[in-house]
Amino acid sequence: MRLRGKTFLIALTTALLLLSSCSRPQGPQASCDFVQSPEMQRVSWKGRFPIRIYLHKSVPVGAYEAIDLAVSQYNATIGDGRELIRIEARGVDGELNPVKDGYSTIYWYKTWDTNRPTEQARTTIYWSGVEIFEADMRINEANFKYTFSSTGANASSISQSTVDLYSLVLHEFGHVFGLAHTTAQGSAMNAVLSEGQVRRKLGTTDINNLKCEY
Ligand SMILES: [Zn+2]
Repeated sequence: MRLRGKTFLIALTTALLLLSSCSRPQGPQASCDFVQSPEMQRVSWKGRFPIRIYLHKSVPVGAYEAIDLAVSQYNATIGDGRELIRIEARGVDGELNPVKDGYSTIYWYKTWDTNRPTEQARTTIYWSGVEIFEADMRINEANFKYTFSSTGANASSISQSTVDLYSLVLHEFGHVFGLAHTTAQGSAMNAVLSEGQVRRKLGTTDINNLKCEY
């Protein structure tokens, strides 16, 4: 059985480093499993909600339900009445090519880097200073089959030959919020999601980490 983790790419803007070098120094923060700046500050959206997500036209309509359920879980669990994240538009035009364009977009790929066949998905966040301003997610359908059917967070089993899309996007949205991987038991942010595995709920660690910042 091969499984796989996802890579977490990081982009830094040089201009930002200049900006931060001119600002008052800030003390280090507890990471709470967030990506951190060189000054050990948590990198996040800093209250600029909702995070607006666009679904590229490559994303199959059948995938919408799982994506919507993951979004709803973040809002219900962490939002405390706030809408933290929103699917702003679906079926969006544009090239199948995530670039830093100010739009946080989910893309669906039927071909994938041949040297990364075990990578299920990849989320890239862009930030300046300590503020994330864009996050792009790509999902690999070249090397994996997915279970779309989403009977909610309590589903217990799926086909052993498929990846549970709800579990996968719940994890990837964690990266969108700024979370890195953790080995904590029961966390949605464990690096590896096995085929056949259902992991549709944020764990206590995830909730506490997100509430550190949000
Ligand atoms: Zn990951």
